[in-house]
Amino acid sequence: MFQDKRAFKNDFLAKLQAMSGKSLEESTAFDKYMAVGGMIRDYISKKWVKTNDRYLEEDVKQVYYFSLEFLLGRLLGSNLLNLGFTEVCRESLVELGIDLNELENAEADAGLGNGGLGRLAACFLDSMASLGIPGHGCGIRYRYGFFEQRIVDGYQVELPDNWLRDGNVWEVRKPDKAVEIRFYGVVREEISKAKTVFVHENYESVLAVPYDTPVIGYGNNTVNTLRLWSAEAVQADFDLSSFSHGNYQKAMEYKYSVEAISQILYPDDNHYKGRELRLKQQYFFVSAGIQSIIRRYKKKNGSLRQLPEKVAIHVNDTHPVLAIPELMRILVDEEEMSWDEAWEITTATISYTNHTILSEAMEKWSTDLFKNLLPRIYMIVYEINERFCRELWDKYPGDWDRIASMAIISDDHIKMAHLAIAGSYSINGVARIHTDILKRQEMKNFFFIYPHKFNNKTNGVTHRRWLMKANPELAALITETIGNGWIDNPAEFIELLKYADDPSFKEQAANVKKRNKTVLVKMIKDKYSIDIDLESIFDVQVKRLHAYKRQLLNVFHIMDLYNRLLETPDLDIAPRTFIFGAKAAPSYFQAKTTIKLINCLAEIINKDKRIMDKIKVVFLENYRVSLAEMIFPAADVSEQISTAGKEASGTGNMKFMLNGAVTIGTMDGANIEIFEKVGPANIFTFGLTAEEVMDYYRSGGYNSHELYQNDHRLKAIIDSLVNGFFPVSAGEFINIYNSLIMHNDEFFVLKDFAAYADTQMKLDKAFRDKGKWLGMSINNIAYAGTFSSDRTIREYAKEIWGVRPLV
Ligand SMILES: *Cc1c(COP(=O)(O)O)cnc(C)c1O
Repeated sequence: MFQDKRAFKNDFLAKLQAMSGKSLEESTAFDKYMAVGGMIRDYISKKWVKTNDRYLEEDVKQVYYFSLEFLLGRLLGSNLLNLGFTEVCRESLVELGIDLNELENAEADAGLGNGGLGRLAACFLDSMASLGIPGHGCGIRYRYGFFEQRIVDGYQVELPDNWLRDGNVWEVRKPDKAVEIRFYGVVREEISKAKTVFVHENYESVLAVPYDTPVIGYGNNTVNTLRLWSAEAVQADFDLSSFSHGNYQKAMEYKYSVEAISQILYPDDNHYKGRELRLKQQYFFVSAGIQSIIRRYKKKNGSLRQLPEKVAIHVNDTHPVLAIPELMRILVDEEEMSWDEAWEITTATISYTNHTILSEAMEKWSTDLFKNLLPRIYMIVYEINERFCRELWDKYPGDWDRIASMAIISDDHIKMAHLAIAGSYSINGVARIHTDILKRQEMKNFFFIYPHKFNNKTNGVTHRRWLMKANPELAALITETIGNGWIDNPAEFIELLKYADDPSFKEQAANVKKRNKTVLVKMIKDKYSIDIDLESIFDVQVKRLHAYKRQLLNVFHIMDLYNRLLETPDLDIAPRTFIFGAKAAPSYFQAKTTIKLINCLAEIINKDKRIMDKIKVVFLENYRVSLAEMIFPAADVSEQISTAGKEASGTGNMKFMLNGAVTIGTMDGANIEIFEKVGPANIFTFGLTAEEVMDYYRSGGYNSHELYQNDHRLKAIIDSLVNGFFPVSAGEFINIYNSLIMHNDEFFVLKDFAAYADTQMKLDKAFRDKGKWLGMSINNIAYAGTFSSDRTIREYAKEIWGVRPLV
């Protein structure tokens, strides 16, 4: 099939006909993409079965990564890459007059996630498979993924992401592996001679049907599984009795209400809303996943007592934390274990990653809503809480305040993070500073009683997708220079240090960057009709739109530069292109206003002839994985400017670094570890530290209004939000103005402005020294190995899951 070009072409033409029913001439790019996808599926099908058979035969410990989000992006390119078939495929297609890139672009992104958290899950799947670790994903097959963003008159407009419309070549539906999920109803206690039995009655049944997607390891014949669950009506309930009573409408209503569970991804990032459907989604996929794990486990093992020796279940944030009470339910109610034994097994099986300390993101569920939807699970959580509080009482007799603050249930709400800590054996943060803040502040009471549970696992990104696939020219240059050992061992990037002063290597690296910039420039010209100077600094901030990420700080710097250019048209600065990409949650008003602000500013600056094209501003619509793959390779500057202490890790920072961009950032998240690796000469840091921010929150002493009054540059910028400078209605940006001036600037935009603007001037100077800049860029690539998700996954495997690669 892929052994040589002749075989490829034969099989491709046959596959194309079989799948599309069309001739080559008639077929569309999508048809051809599906044909190559179909060939890959055929090719890996044996390896997939074999991988599963070996896991079963050799009875090795399995990892299940539970996540409400998997932000996979496109799979054709990365699957070809991992199989080593990119070249044979590309060249064979050329001989048929077909461009592989065009086929890749015909694939819809699998956008089953919001941002960093979902993309991390996708990078982890790639690393687990590539390291030969028996690790699988478990999540929801959303009918509609993360919304498609359009910019209309500068405003964000959301469209449904109908990614499955034309079919999904990668998934396999497994109806025979469906399981039943029960919602609502009542629990009756049957007290028999020996024990109490809990009978769940009058529940509503939902069928969870799995769709499996292969996760192909790089060059190692491992094919793991991403199992995504889809909600369907149970046949027996959707029955003819409703029809025969003429109640067709009622039957259909039931069907739609069930299907609603896996209909859409909630578009909220770092923000929870206590909606019942969301809780339904969480229990739905967790219960399905656990039932299917237990069913598989029982094929080989008898008693569930050894479960923790054979299974590790990891929960990505608190969204899948119902895995804890669900596993308890199965062990206690169905397997008839004692509570204590079930608890021992559960807490030795489940591990948890915390992703944020933002209070608005902390999940909590109203007990009324929870009890009504999940009556038996509520009873179990209640019992867990009772026992947990008793344990606390023994440690802190009479200390009601402490116990109330740590309880799993309090103020009529279930605190999911508390449940996660009580019910798991490992709790990790995602960058060193984040873990330290968890231990010392947010979760210090828990750290005090369970110090052994807490650990750090700094995030990483897969260098296969984010370098080899996204930036093949840079990957080739690196291999030419230091050999290809870095592919299996990204720590070998460090060999590039020897070439950081090598004029010939620098020139080649500069040429690669220039060609990547050319591709982006062309796209921007075609799509937005904006002319970009190829030689300008490509200064990029791409990430979710959020107040704590401070896109506003970036905007203020641009407005300041613009003001200075108007005053001094021959201001001695390098030309710069400010590039933004960001989706705002549809109900996040200030985030949407910020998008409008960026677009208004772009409109004004891009057409102002007075500033001689010195600066341009571009907002790239619909930021997503496939667009990101085009942006990172072309970036010169990586904007990582969150308020210190707020960004748990960031992973965009790592993708930029891997592609030779230089960071300007705060001492926050993984920026700190990047700083420690590359050293102060190869990164631009500025602003308040997390401790300084914390001190202000604790002790006061910050007055944004005073700053505004006393800094005329800042005042000019902020006034122009509301003084008619922008051609918008009077109140358009008033909410931004108020948050900064009336509500004391929660995220310290004004406070950090001067330091940021000064640091940008230093960056400008460094960029204009071409040799110096290239050295900085190369240093960043050289130290990027630590931030490969292979390193991260090796740490999880060894220090949390206790699993080893099957070689
Ligand atoms: C990496 C990535 C993110 C996360 O970016 P941060 O800068 O870490 O917030 C979000 N969205 C997409 C599409 C990504 O690829």
